[in-house]
Amino acid sequence: MNIINTILVSLLSHLPKWIVKPFASPYVAGVTTDDAVKAVKALNKKGFVATIDILGEHVHSKDESFKIRDDYRNLYDTIAKENLNANISLKPTHLGLEIDPLLAEENLNSVLEKAKENNNFMRIDMENSPYTDATIDIYKKCLYKYDKVGMVLQSYLKRTEKDISNLDSEKFNCRICKGIYHEDEEIAYHDKKEIHERFFSNIKAILSGKGYAAIATHDIPLINKIEKWIIENKIPFDKFEFQVLYGVPMGNRLLELLEKGYTVRNYVPFGESWFDYSIRRLKENPNIMWYVLGNMFKH
Ligand SMILES: Cc1cc2nc3c(=O)[nH]c(=O)nc-3n(C[C@H](O)[C@H](O)[C@H](O)COP(=O)(O)OP(=O)(O)OC[C@H]3O[C@@H](n4cnc5c(N)ncnc54)[C@H](O)[C@@H]3O)c2cc1C
Repeated sequence: MNIINTILVSLLSHLPKWIVKPFASPYVAGVTTDDAVKAVKALNKKGFVATIDILGEHVHSKDESFKIRDDYRNLYDTIAKENLNANISLKPTHLGLEIDPLLAEENLNSVLEKAKENNNFMRIDMENSPYTDATIDIYKKCLYKYDKVGMVLQSYLKRTEKDISNLDSEKFNCRICKGIYHEDEEIAYHDKKEIHERFFSNIKAILSGKGYAAIATHDIPLINKIEKWIIENKIPFDKFEFQVLYGVPMGNRLLELLEKGYTVRNYVPFGESWFDYSIRRLKENPNIMWYVLGNMFKH
C-alpha cells in the first residue's frame, strides 16, 4: 500500500492545481491573510497558540524580497489589530539570503523592528545546510537588537549538539525539529531511530541549560518520552512549548497536552505558494491522501 501511495503522491505533483487543492487544504490556512486570520482565530478559540508563515522561499530578486519583507511587517500589524495569540516564523531565503546575506539581514531587521513595535516574537526557520551558518549568524545579530527572537536547529545534523552548547544563554529560544531537507551522510544522520534519540537529547540539553525549547514533532512516542522527562525533572512550564504543523492529524494528543496546561503552538502557513509546500507534506505521509479522500466523501 505504501508504494502505491508514494506513486500517487508523485503523480499529484504533475497534476493541475485545482485537482491537488483538496489534498493540500488540510495543511495550509489558505491563500490570503484573511484566511490565515480565520484559521488562527479558530485555533485560539480551542486554546492553541500559533506561529504564522507566509509560504515561499528562495526569492530571485531584491524587489521580490522587499515585497515579502513588507508582507511580514504588515502581518505583525494584522496580528495586533485582530488580537491574535500568534507570532511569526520566516525563512531567510524568502527574505533574500540566497541573493546576498546582507540583503537578508537588512530585511530581517526591518521585520524585527515591527515585531518590537508590536511587542511580538519572531522565529527564524532553518533551511538546508548551505544556509545554517549564515542563519545562525543573522540570529545572533538579531539578538543584539531584540530579545524576542528565536531560531531552529535540526536533530538530523551532526553539528546540532555543538551548536546548542555554543548558543546556550538566557536569551536562547530554539525550536528543535528533526529536519526536512535531504542532507549528505557526512553531515547528517539518516537513521530514523538515531534522529529520534538525537531529538530527545537536544531537548534535554536545551532544558538543562538556560534556554527555552520549542518541541516541534508529530512523533507521539517521542512527545511522550519528552513529557515524562520534563515531569521527572520538574522543568517549569515557561521553559518550553510543543509545536505541530497545521493540519497534521494527532488524535487526542494535542488536546491532552492543552488540558495539562502546556503551551501548544500550531505552525500556520498560508499564501500563493501553497502547492510545493503541500506536496512536501503529502510526501512525508502519503497515507494522508486516504484521510482526505475519506473526508471528501463524508461531506
Ligand atoms: C512546528 C514545526 C516547525 C518546523 N520547522 C522546520 C524548520 O524550520 N526546518 C526544518 O528543516 N524542518 C522543520 N519542520 C519539519 C520537521 O523537520 C520534520 O520534517 C517534520 O516535522 C516531520 O518530522 P516528525 O518529527 O513529525 O517525525 P516523523 O517521524 O517524520 O513523523 C512522526 C509521525 O507523524 C506523522 N507525520 C509527520 N509529518 C506528517 C505530515 N505532514 N502529515 C501527516 N502525518 C505526518 C508521520 O507519518 C509519523 O506517523 C518543522 C516541523 C514542525 C512541527
